[in-house]
Order: sequence, then structure tokens, then C-alpha cells
Amino acid sequence: MARPVQYNILEKQMESPIGTVVAPEGFTGEGFFASKLSDVVGLARKNSIWPLPFATSCCGIEFMALMGSHYDLARFGSERVSFSPRQCDLLMVMGTIAKKMAPIVKQVYLQMAEPRWVLAMGACACSGGIFDSYSVLQGIDQIIPVDVYVPGCPPRPEAVLDGFMKVQELVGKESIRRRNSEQYKQLLESYGIQ
Ligand code: SF4
Repeated sequence: MARPVQYNILEKQMESPIGTVVAPEGFTGEGFFASKLSDVVGLARKNSIWPLPFATSCCGIEFMALMGSHYDLARFGSERVSFSPRQCDLLMVMGTIAKKMAPIVKQVYLQMAEPRWVLAMGACACSGGIFDSYSVLQGIDQIIPVDVYVPGCPPRPEAVLDGFMKVQELVGKESIRRRNSEQYKQLLESYGIQ
């Protein structure tokens, strides 16, 4: 039997059957609309995120459900999932990451162009989960910076959608100057990334 789908958002009455994104703040007048460049770029970026799924175990199966027609991540402009780091801007790490695997995750992250974001899906990616052992990385934030953590073992697709919308929020609000800031450089340097 199909499970009812519920999202962590308030129900709202649609004026039209066609959903549209909210326009950024700005000044409007007859024949013009002025806004901040950051807001316009953020609006485009957040609605066209291309994920790279790095799945090593069971959370990957939950991700498959997320991409299926029932939960349908494509509705967020993210149907273009691929394994080519240079074309993706969201690294989704799902599953147990063994210490031997850690350099590979980092390599994939390094191959992604800026701006790039990272979502850790599931207890294993966030903290090592139940595998408190010598061979398992106790959270991917030991090797790369993480933007959003989605807890759970495994998290349900609704939880991942919620995390994805948090990423969208970050992307939409990010200043286009952030990646050149000293603070961001220091963050990367703390991970040994130049
Ligand atoms: S968090 Fe749980 S479901 Fe996800 S990879 Fe780890 S053990 Fe598997």
C-alpha cells in the first residue's frame, strides 16, 4: 500500500495550478524591477542544484526512493543527478565511509567547481553512526566541510527533502562574494584545501 506523503511545510492555497518561485526583494515600477545581483544568482542556483550522490550503503537505497516518482527530487530542479564532479554543485554523501574511502570522498569534493555544497545523509555520514570502530570515519566533516546534516538511520525521504530544502535556503541566501572571503579561505585551509 502506498505510504502517504507528508512534507514538513505548511499547506497553502495555490492561486494557480502552476507553482512559481518567490521573486527576490527589490524595487519595482512601471516596466522595471531592480534587485541585488546576489539574490538573482541565488534564485537561479537554488532552483537548479545538480547533485552528485556518493552512496556506499543502505542510505543509498533510501536515496533511490527519493529520486523515484513518489518523492521526486526532480520537482526541485534537481533531476540531473550524475557522477561527474565537475558538473555538479551538491555532494550528497550517504552511507558508511570507511577510512580507506575518505581520500576518495575528498578527491571527488576537490574535483567539484566552486560554488559547491555538501549534504551528509544519515547517521553514518554525519558521525559514523553505529560503526564506532577503528576502520570507519566518524563523520565526513573530518575531511570536508559539510553544509547540512540529515540525521536518521536511514533518514526517510521526507527528511532528506527537508535537508535538501535547507541547502536551497543556504544557496539562495549566499552572497556571490562568500567564496572569495577570508573566512571561507580559512575554512578550506582548516581542511588542508587551498
Ligand atoms: S545511517 Fe543507517 S541506513 Fe544509513 S548507511 Fe548508516 S547504517 Fe545504513
